[in-house]
Amino acid sequence: MEKASGAPELFEKQARPRVGFVSLGCPKNLVDSEVMMGLLDRAGALMTPDAETADILVVNTCSFIDKAKQESVDAILEMARLKTAGSARKLIVAGCLVERYRDEIQKNIPEVDAVVGTGELEQILVAAGLAMPAPMPVPGSPFNILSGTISSGNGQADVRPGTESLAGTHKSAPAFRAEGDRREEQGRFSRGSWDGADAHLPQYLYDHTTPRLRTTKSASAYIKIAEGCDHPCTFCVIPNLRGKFRSRRFESVIAEAEALVAEGVREITLIGQDTTCYGEDLDLKDGLALLLDRLARIEGLTWLRFLYAYPNRITGRLLETMAKHDNICKYLDVPLQHASAPVLKAMKRGGGAEIFLKLLAKVRAAVPNIALRTSFIVGFPGETDADFEALCDFVVEAKFDWLGVFAYSHEEGSKAFDLAGAVPKRVIEQRRRALMKLQKGISRQTMRARMGQTIDVLVEGESEETPLLWEGRTQHHAPEIDGTVYLNDFGSMEALTPGRFYRCEVTEAHDYDLVARVMGECAIAEPELAGAGAGL
Ligand code: SF4
Repeated sequence: MEKASGAPELFEKQARPRVGFVSLGCPKNLVDSEVMMGLLDRAGALMTPDAETADILVVNTCSFIDKAKQESVDAILEMARLKTAGSARKLIVAGCLVERYRDEIQKNIPEVDAVVGTGELEQILVAAGLAMPAPMPVPGSPFNILSGTISSGNGQADVRPGTESLAGTHKSAPAFRAEGDRREEQGRFSRGSWDGADAHLPQYLYDHTTPRLRTTKSASAYIKIAEGCDHPCTFCVIPNLRGKFRSRRFESVIAEAEALVAEGVREITLIGQDTTCYGEDLDLKDGLALLLDRLARIEGLTWLRFLYAYPNRITGRLLETMAKHDNICKYLDVPLQHASAPVLKAMKRGGGAEIFLKLLAKVRAAVPNIALRTSFIVGFPGETDADFEALCDFVVEAKFDWLGVFAYSHEEGSKAFDLAGAVPKRVIEQRRRALMKLQKGISRQTMRARMGQTIDVLVEGESEETPLLWEGRTQHHAPEIDGTVYLNDFGSMEALTPGRFYRCEVTEAHDYDLVARVMGECAIAEPELAGAGAGL
């Protein structure tokens, strides 16, 4: 068994080892996968979709909730089976599961040759046998590679944010937010009770010079603008897995966005555990608004959006910025988690239905025609029938365009793990279904109201369901998570091109999806006209 930092068996320089890569979990984990694939590619490896013929297998895992952990373990076991039966010489496990169960993975799955945590992405090269391990670290150094804390690698990554010029907006920056330091003192990030997990928190953050092999559809890309989270939400172990909140440097994000647009990307989605905290550790006020304002000026960028807003950090300036630029999607993803004040208090999030309704009204007034997405957790310990009813009433009143519902998952290491009042699994599932059914009716009404409207659609290609339909998204659909616009009539166009924008008319409305007829190609598809978008 060899850790990422162990002495590797180096692959010969002439042969290009073939790497089969499985990426699980959220878009944030996908960006980590793209960074690891970029590093492997630059080191001479060849990515292959055919795991059976790969020399090296990598599984980048998710450990968010029980279901995600099970999916990760299943994928590792499947790859272990392939390794035993096929040609692979190495199996590497990366990602959040490693931060939680580093030793257990190595102990219980002997086919695993190396593990790479979220804070040591560059160690994928050592694990794959494409680089020698770095020299022995200085004891006590914060850049202790063998401890699994961090990979300083080639020195290109944003190991600590905030030391370079910030185009006139930068002041000398603290390493982390005061809130993060305070919460660390309170034990928020502690892994002390986790057997076999490395005690050190990840600090790694990629930057614009880090190679990335993009896996998203051609016109669309994610940019991770920050990593980690300082919030105290009691159901969540992500801060324990990913560390304290830290932002990418402002100019690094701009440089990455410009390079992506130069490659042909037309839609950029900014991600992080909490994008609305962006820049607080760089001493920036309204950092996300400043960043959006600057990014929106990139010529050729047709759609710009951000995900994962924290409700009490949606500022007037952020909304003004969204309203001001035509190429900032009128779309806000704000996970509220619940609407009953006692449950929110137990979740250590605060707020309640009344406060949230005021917030939504403010957002809708400031940014007309905005689509709102949220997600809720049902079955949190102590959630009563009355709490659930309050949540349902709120959902009816709020009329979200998109809504996700998670069944509460009992996560060891979270503060909620020790709370009394567990809700039976059967009740949790009933509530989850009831809320989804409620939202289905609301969504159906919203979709029906779109009938006959003119919408601008980013075409993604032939539908996976049938070659008779093509599919795409409007600015109101984020990649992968929201509904779909199906195109069944190309009008006068002989063919459509994936990655281009088309003006369409909505001809059918379903519960979550629309069907539309193509009227012609959009002017906004042309880089020089970026920002002229109208319609849905
Ligand atoms: S905001 Fe709350 S739920 Fe989201 S990652 Fe941070 S701690 Fe977890």
